[in-house]
Amino acid sequence: MTTTQISAATDSLRARLGERVLTPDDERFAPTAALVIDGPQAPPALVVRPRDADDVALAVTVARDAGLPIAVRNGGHSFGRFGWVEDGLVLDLRLLADVDLDAAAWVGRAGGGTTAGAYTAAAGELGLATGFGDTGGVGVAGLTLGGGLGYLSRRDGLTLDNLLAADVVLADGRQVHASPDDEPDLFWALRGGGGNFGVVTRLHLRLVPQGPVYGGVLIVPLTARALADVVAVAHQAPEELTVMVNALVAPPLPFLPETIHGKQVLMLEIAWSGDVVDGDAAVAPLRALGPAYVDTLGPQPYPALFEGGPSGPPMRASGRTGFLQESAVDEVWAQRVLDGLAGSPAAVSVVGVRPLGGAIARVPADATAFAHRAHDLVVATTAMAPEPAASAVEAWSDTLASTLGLGGPAYANFLGTVGEEESRRAYPGATWDRLAAVKAVYDPDNVFRGNHNVPPAG
Ligand SMILES: Cc1cc2nc3c(=O)[nH]c(=O)nc-3n(C[C@H](O)[C@H](O)[C@H](O)COP(=O)(O)OP(=O)(O)OC[C@H]3O[C@@H](n4cnc5c(N)ncnc54)[C@H](O)[C@@H]3O)c2cc1C
Repeated sequence: MTTTQISAATDSLRARLGERVLTPDDERFAPTAALVIDGPQAPPALVVRPRDADDVALAVTVARDAGLPIAVRNGGHSFGRFGWVEDGLVLDLRLLADVDLDAAAWVGRAGGGTTAGAYTAAAGELGLATGFGDTGGVGVAGLTLGGGLGYLSRRDGLTLDNLLAADVVLADGRQVHASPDDEPDLFWALRGGGGNFGVVTRLHLRLVPQGPVYGGVLIVPLTARALADVVAVAHQAPEELTVMVNALVAPPLPFLPETIHGKQVLMLEIAWSGDVVDGDAAVAPLRALGPAYVDTLGPQPYPALFEGGPSGPPMRASGRTGFLQESAVDEVWAQRVLDGLAGSPAAVSVVGVRPLGGAIARVPADATAFAHRAHDLVVATTAMAPEPAASAVEAWSDTLASTLGLGGPAYANFLGTVGEEESRRAYPGATWDRLAAVKAVYDPDNVFRGNHNVPPAG
């Protein structure tokens, strides 16, 4: 890519989009391009901020014709840093963030740049919800296209199970509507296949009634017995009770009491989404784990669970992930987690365990491009370091992942390691073959390759 080609593409986009085309000499460029997870790459050539699907189609067409690589950015949270591309065009969708709620039809429509927090707050005003993850800043599109595992998943399915339709700009600039009746192969592939197939400018999502939840955070001492026990409780819990288990060394952050800074703790993110009056009884097995350092559990509006999230400057993150059966998580396995955390060279290290099951497991494995329905648990290790002490942290991540048995199939949204081998972990066997066939139809030149990429078949 020559400087002349980049300036020709920039000029042509500026003629239509004006100051919504940012180049590195613009003071808005660096803060706009910044992601939640930091990285070592050189900057993009330009950031383009579309306001509608026509703007997206223009940007895709200009970039493709100029041979400029494209990164698509929604909430900027991907562990693979897919919202960034060296010397290429970042399509920043955050101005496409309208939320339109049709309560009578139980459908929420979200622009391709909406965040989970903004959508959840708007739906909450009407006593409605679509289940996302656990963090308000994560993009609805980025989350949904890869899966969407959060507080309501065991009751209502993954977010992608609640995707009713999507409006998509394809690699050739065409705009299509994908649903079970329109472009059904594309619709199948979008539900799990990530950003491989086009730019989703609008998602049509199923809404459900959602009143207050009984939830919050419970922090208790971390022991091998407590970790094994809580995973068993989370796995066997009723579908309305979600327990996201995090084992970590408590960092010196203001929201954690000073007395636990530096201690190994279990931080449980909990939501009981059944009748709130039953919440106290539902979380009793968790409170019975032992005296809590922190207990914020109680009735609260569902959108309150999405407030907060990462703040401060972006950090380098090193992550590994895989699925396990619940029977593999015993005290011996849990002790490996404790030993791993004790030896971490990173500023913050977390081993997270989330149960699947419930409504997620009731969807046939081949109904969507998320094939991992039979697993009990997703496990993810994350090490965050302000400085790029990359090699020590990466080596620690590799060792811990192997000790914990995380080498096999993987959840795309938690997969921070990138490459064909890793993509095949996210899309095993027949899923890979079908995705590659759909890719050959909708993006034969692999224009959308800044993702857990599935190259076109043939
Ligand atoms: C703090 C944190 C908490 C998280 N919590 C959860 C959780 O609870 N549950 C869970 O399942 N995951 C969770 N994740 C993972 C998250 O779902 C993925 O990282 C997801 O890809 C982030 O989406 P994004 O839009 O924020 O990221 P971005 O970096 O903006 O986008 C990532 C990629 O998604 C694709 N994409 C995004 N928008 C579009 C679009 N409109 N059209 C086409 N492709 C698009 C593109 O390939 C893009 O490059 C979390 C991540 C972090 C950092």
